[in-house]
Amino acid sequence: MSDAATPGEFELIRRYFMQDVEPACRSDQVSPHQARAGVVLGQGDDCALLAPSAGCRLAVSVDTSLADVHFPGDASAEAIGHRALAVNLSDLAAMGARPRWFVLALTLPEVDEQWLEGFARGLYGLAQAHDIALVGGDITCGRELSITITVHGDVPDDEAITRHGARPGDLLAVTGVLGSAHGGLRAWFDGQRDERHPLVKAYLRPAPRVSEAMSIRHLVSGGLDISDGLLADLGHLCARSGVGACLDANAIPLDQALVESLGAQEALEAALNGGDDYELLLALAPDREAAVRQALEAVGGALHVIGRVTAEPGITGVVSTGRGWQHFHAQDQQAQSHRGTGATS
Ligand SMILES: [Mg+2]
Repeated sequence: MSDAATPGEFELIRRYFMQDVEPACRSDQVSPHQARAGVVLGQGDDCALLAPSAGCRLAVSVDTSLADVHFPGDASAEAIGHRALAVNLSDLAAMGARPRWFVLALTLPEVDEQWLEGFARGLYGLAQAHDIALVGGDITCGRELSITITVHGDVPDDEAITRHGARPGDLLAVTGVLGSAHGGLRAWFDGQRDERHPLVKAYLRPAPRVSEAMSIRHLVSGGLDISDGLLADLGHLCARSGVGACLDANAIPLDQALVESLGAQEALEAALNGGDDYELLLALAPDREAAVRQALEAVGGALHVIGRVTAEPGITGVVSTGRGWQHFHAQDQQAQSHRGTGATS
């Protein structure tokens, strides 16, 4: 991918994407090795060789992020690196899996080393916080910036949180305020470029609920992460579990900064339909509520009960205009306008 003036793929990988490989092992002469539990052979061979923990299932998920489709291309490289990994980690959290390894396929419109340095900083900052190791990948040149990450996690047999486990009578709960990321995206569209702005930060640097999920995976009936908006993701949970839901609109936790900037009704719409929040939506038996709350609080998390699972299909208890929000995705707007129609009072 290089001409004489720009470093080639392997040099770029060596410079920016071997940060948890021991320095002595970054040369071609030495057998590649990452001093990490479960990494038998890391970057540098044709495949990584990995050893999942005994008694665990492997959880695998892949996600592609495209500039100006899934994230604003003019965000900082560091935020883009963080966000690309965060959305993948959130899928591991959705299953209650412990993050272990990931691979990265990066398509770059140009080799900009300052950008790569920032991207790697954001990526590794989050990777190290969640103890997940980059064990392979490639870099190519293409017209648009594209980031594909495959994450691997492990979860003890029979403890994975699934979408099919919700039962009538279960409580429905979320792990944090909703709508903030949507507020951040709107602020970005309105010209707010301060990435420390709380709503913008919620959108660009989501905090995947990994430790929260691991702490309650054995206690809940089912769940998933909220990436498409509460109503859409609740719809997924209900469909897979063959149940319905009754929400308490007043119990849905809203970001106070969002309420101040949009008003209560618009903030509720953002919570219902906005997406990109990456909180967990959980179904749990009522007699587990205290234990789940205690386990979440022990890792700095929170539990907000927002409704109940019903035997009757359909989502009741909230009125949504189903208003299409401005997203990067043309089809997202369409999807958004479909989402609200499932909600009736
Ligand atoms: Mg998900």
